[in-house]
Amino acid sequence: IDGEPTYKRVLLKVSGEALMGQRDYGLEPETVDRLAEEIEAVHGMGVELCLVIGGGNIFRGVSGAARGMDRAAADHMGMLATVMNALAVQNALEKRRVPTRVQSAIPMAAVCEPYIRRRAVRHMEKGRVVILAAGTGNPFFTTDTAAALRACEIGCDALLKGTKVDGVYAADPFKHPDAQRYERLTYHEVLSRDLGVMDHSAISLARENHIPILVFSIAEPGAFAKVISGEGRFTVVA
Ligand code: UDP
Repeated sequence: IDGEPTYKRVLLKVSGEALMGQRDYGLEPETVDRLAEEIEAVHGMGVELCLVIGGGNIFRGVSGAARGMDRAAADHMGMLATVMNALAVQNALEKRRVPTRVQSAIPMAAVCEPYIRRRAVRHMEKGRVVILAAGTGNPFFTTDTAAALRACEIGCDALLKGTKVDGVYAADPFKHPDAQRYERLTYHEVLSRDLGVMDHSAISLARENHIPILVFSIAEPGAFAKVISGEGRFTVVA
């Protein structure tokens, strides 16, 4: 990539499912390493980087094994799942000699740092990738909302959402191969057409704080670095 990075400080959100690879549950080491490789490339461009990783590959508070549980308890389990994913990604990054810190919204002193905004910023300024675990720390929220919240708090120039496809489509392109793909959307269009970019509270937070959301394929090798340079395929929500 020749281009200068368009953004100085970004937050990347990936779902837990992005770590699952061909499996239908949990983590696939090759896939976790592939993600680490993408992150390493962007880190190498000198971009300040923080990550929010979901937990849906392990536990989701509203479905599956959570059936019949109190929502708050199930959501606590979901947040713990994101900590496991954060540790897996940290490990893969450190094997590549990318310096990292995990900060959890639910303090877990023996495992990682607690989330402290100013300290997260300081780590990023020093070139460490900060992995923000345990979502917002509150039940009834999602890691999408956590990503938007942290991007606002930390003063990120952009919120990048790494998905399975190269942008936002009018319908699921796996089910509808001829679905329309958007280059640009407004926050309002995403909300009013209920396009499944991120949940509504995440979109609203990004809108109020004027943070553009860039949706791209995290599965495509090199795509993350290209998006950071303003190249490649992605949909901008702004
Ligand atoms: N969760 C929560 N509060 C948060 C973030 C996450 O309670 O601020 C819980 C919730 O149960 C959710 C689970 O953690 O279902 C996993 O997060 P999410 O579904 O956002 O993960 P993803 O779909 O991105 O893998």
